[in-house]
Amino acid sequence: MKQKEIMLNTLHKDDINLSEMSADEIGNEHIGTSIETPMKKDAFVMTNEEKIKKIESHFKEIMETLGLDLTDDSLKGTPQRVAKMYVTEIFSGLDPANKPSAKLFENKYKYNQMLVEKDITFYSNCEHHFVPIFGKAHVAYISNGKVIGLSKLNRIVQYFAKRPQVQERLTVQIAKELQNVLKTEDVAILIDAKHLCVSSRGVQDHNSATVTSFYGGKFAGETTKQEFLKYIEMKTQY
Ligand SMILES: [Zn+2]
Repeated sequence: MKQKEIMLNTLHKDDINLSEMSADEIGNEHIGTSIETPMKKDAFVMTNEEKIKKIESHFKEIMETLGLDLTDDSLKGTPQRVAKMYVTEIFSGLDPANKPSAKLFENKYKYNQMLVEKDITFYSNCEHHFVPIFGKAHVAYISNGKVIGLSKLNRIVQYFAKRPQVQERLTVQIAKELQNVLKTEDVAILIDAKHLCVSSRGVQDHNSATVTSFYGGKFAGETTKQEFLKYIEMKTQY
């Protein structure tokens, strides 16, 4: 599988003047603007029910504009289904109320090596085309005296995946959240994902995958980084 490595630390907002690029160019190059998901100030004034109603009517219009007959029994419920899916499932990570609460535990075993949670399957959507990005996230940290429940690592990945995303931002958002929650810089993330907007449209490259990584604190050191990468490559024995 051909892989494209993106060095996150070299991505600076000021390097790119997006206003000089066309909408198609920005989409095809998959360029994002900031680590924070760009949100409107009034993002949560409407209730979820109100959002679903509004999206339903707009999506109905999109389908009708495409020429689809919404009186067809198979199609008539689609606008409502899509609206509900957007708000309560695939974009539910836009709402901070859905952020997993991260309870920490005392590191009673005094385990001071890295912990790697690998092969976390996630599904996200490209913010430029609203089609799926899916793949595996590998997450690691070195305890700073506290530990987090393993399922929480998974939940944090899923929360940030459930937003319109660019892969670089997804990587950094997960990393920053883990650093914040675990109160340590020593966090590493590697995401290996497929973008349907690349494989099913545009350049139609079916085999390429995108790899993004984040190495904080001790993981920036070559030995620790290599140890992390070795664990990811390790074949499971069960
Ligand atoms: Zn895309």
